[in-house]
Amino acid sequence: MRQVAVVGGGIAGLAAAYRLTRLRAQHGLDFEVTLLEASGRLGGKIKTDRSAGVVIEAGPDSFLTTKPDAVELAREVGLASRLLPTAQDAKDVYVYLRGGLRRLPEGLMLMAPTRVWPFLRSDLMSFPGKLRMGLERFLPRGGSGDESLAEFTRRRLGREALEAIVDPLMAGIYAGDAEAMSLQSTFPQFADLERRYGSIIRGLRAGAKARPPGSGSGLTPFASFLGGVEELVEALGRSLGEATVRTEAPVRSVRRAGKGFLIDAGGGAIEADAAVLALPAPDAAASLEGENPGLAAALRGIPAVSTATVTLGFERGSLQAMPSGFGFVVPKSAGSTLNAVTFVSQKFPQRQTEFFMIRCFVGGAGKEDFLSLGDAELLERTLADLRAMIGLAAIPKIHRIYRWNKANPQYTIGHQSRIRDIESRLQALPGLVLTGASYYGVGIPDCIRSANEKATELVNWLKTRNS
Ligand SMILES: Cc1cc2nc3c(=O)[nH]c(=O)nc-3n(C[C@H](O)[C@H](O)[C@H](O)COP(=O)(O)OP(=O)(O)OC[C@H]3O[C@@H](n4cnc5c(N)ncnc54)[C@H](O)[C@@H]3O)c2cc1C
Repeated sequence: MRQVAVVGGGIAGLAAAYRLTRLRAQHGLDFEVTLLEASGRLGGKIKTDRSAGVVIEAGPDSFLTTKPDAVELAREVGLASRLLPTAQDAKDVYVYLRGGLRRLPEGLMLMAPTRVWPFLRSDLMSFPGKLRMGLERFLPRGGSGDESLAEFTRRRLGREALEAIVDPLMAGIYAGDAEAMSLQSTFPQFADLERRYGSIIRGLRAGAKARPPGSGSGLTPFASFLGGVEELVEALGRSLGEATVRTEAPVRSVRRAGKGFLIDAGGGAIEADAAVLALPAPDAAASLEGENPGLAAALRGIPAVSTATVTLGFERGSLQAMPSGFGFVVPKSAGSTLNAVTFVSQKFPQRQTEFFMIRCFVGGAGKEDFLSLGDAELLERTLADLRAMIGLAAIPKIHRIYRWNKANPQYTIGHQSRIRDIESRLQALPGLVLTGASYYGVGIPDCIRSANEKATELVNWLKTRNS
């Protein structure tokens, strides 16, 4: 029996292993699938802690539904009834600016307004700043090559839009620095709108008109599961059927051997005809160092930053009224430990408990120093910032800190050409594919999409070797 190894049991590895078993059945192929995971558990960065009787997300707390891959996979593995939309009303998101929370106006599509009046009435930006943003519709096309997100925003929408909107959103989504991040690799849709419509505001408005009402997944733009994002990991684990899953099996090296690969893993090496490496780039580099040092060096060229999440549970009686909505993001000019704060109990009100849950996202580009603080100090800093920003003076009854060392890949300028270089070096290793957050998109839906694509690529390759 032929053997396909999947290395890494995060969402990308699990989705790839699942897809391989489905494709095997569909195409009537005969190969075994073995998943090798270094740690004692599956899920990687997806980890839900239910030990305090509340849902606490150590890593991701939701996923985009406008990219269909996560919702489709969830439905496929029997989680349709467990999907949890976010609150339908009170969806406000704020930016902490000029010493207070400023609401992002309705109709703002990430960086650009699609509705005039809510934008004009908002206190997010000064009048000249809004006027400059409005001028975007009349600016000529510009920019060439891989531009930074900051350069693009300044050029099209002005400096204030960068500080008030794009910079804090970038920190909240990518834990990244807008000056370093590649537009093409983070928000390619905006480059595309400029190219097609000559203006991102005009393009967004045209797109909104063209979209039929009610199209999409039928869910809110972000969703989770009743018992947290890890439900997807658990369901995938149950759906792997005849695949072999080996935890505590760190892969030390992947080398070509015969017509396939010799994979040296804790608990015993395996020979595989083909392999999916679903590992963060530095781990993939370490396993390929002996086989192909050039590829390993190219993989090491993808940077990553460290972050942490600090989740706090307050007795409801101890809290003053919270601002309505999902939470707020913080620009780096505020000099705070915090990048983003989620009012979890308002974002997912269906998970009602006696505690009001708040989650803070700290660290990231330019702020990794804060992570050298011990847990007690980090908690103290977080609480002090919340006190200063929203007047929160209560003492939490629950607190959990999760540290993520170099866990957030940074798609900096040149990311696309680094990926092209890696792909061309991979041609020396037919039967080996890479997937995961370091390469083709950091969000859960992107990881699943790329896992599906790579599993399909590998199965097609195995079929050609069959005939
Ligand atoms: C704090 C935080 C918040 C986030 N929030 C969101 C969010 O709200 N929504 C969203 O869509 N995304 C979010 N993300 C991003 C998303 O969670 C990740 O991009 C995604 O889960 C990564 O999946 P992966 O399978 O590529 O990698 P990982 O989850 O890192 O999995 C890789 C696996 O490989 C294993 N491994 C490593 N080396 C070896 C080896 N040598 N041998 C065998 N196994 C090995 C690891 O133990 C791990 O289990 C967040 C990320 C973080 C860190």
